[in-house]
Amino acid sequence: MSEAQIEAEQADTTTQTVLDVSDLRAWYGPSRALHDIALSVRTGELVTMLGRNGAGKTTTLRSIVGMVPRRSGSIIINGTQTIGLPSHRIARTGIAFCPEDRGIYASLSAEENLVLPPVVAPGGMSVEDILTLFPGLRDRMKSPGTKLSGGEQQMLAIGRILRTGARLLLLDEPTEGLAPVVVQQIGAAIADLKARGYTILMVEQNVRFASTVADRHYVIDRGQVAETFDNATLLADFDRISARLSA
Ligand code: ATP
Repeated sequence: MSEAQIEAEQADTTTQTVLDVSDLRAWYGPSRALHDIALSVRTGELVTMLGRNGAGKTTTLRSIVGMVPRRSGSIIINGTQTIGLPSHRIARTGIAFCPEDRGIYASLSAEENLVLPPVVAPGGMSVEDILTLFPGLRDRMKSPGTKLSGGEQQMLAIGRILRTGARLLLLDEPTEGLAPVVVQQIGAAIADLKARGYTILMVEQNVRFASTVADRHYVIDRGQVAETFDNATLLADFDRISARLSA
């Protein structure tokens, strides 16, 4: 490959990179949770972070959206350096975070929960689009948050970030605690979002589920990226890799 071709390819890669994290460190009080995390996600990719409990996966997502008390390094989202920005400014770069606890307000109805987050960019899904993606929510819109099942709460939590117009979605363990049939529904919705061109970075404990939806994977261990591989590698070596991740 000529130098010009290499430069062209590098420029192309840069324009396609939606999220570029390097040297990311994060602290809770005096204790350091992340040690120089580096990862990147390109337009339309679905990338997971796998790893044991306490490895630093959630902290990485929370750091990217400015929700940890102290962090340093570089986080470039859609070309904007966000490391020094507060979370409400980070949201305006077109990113949205769906937390592990789903963050559904018990005192609000499903519908009120759905329309709560501010719209940050044009092109967000309408309530009707969201109900088409998650038909099970349609009859539950007037129900209070407390009355929703875990699966309905997860659908609502994903649905409401789709309203904001964000095209880069951070999902923290979307299948956690859900029955297999609901995991399948969530998987179908995530595959649909990928087909619509959304870019997704997802933390997932369920390696089997991750292998059905993702393009690439990062393994996080003790606050660092231990390994990275594409989904074909995971599928080809599934038993060994998943055994190591759960050991
Ligand atoms: P899990 O799947 O269990 O959530 P994880 O890989 O997402 O695991 P993190 O939640 O990011 O891991 O935790 C990374 C480290 O930071 C762990 O040692 C954890 O105990 C610590 N930690 C996480 N949240 C806090 C907090 N709010 N205050 C203090 N320490 C924390």
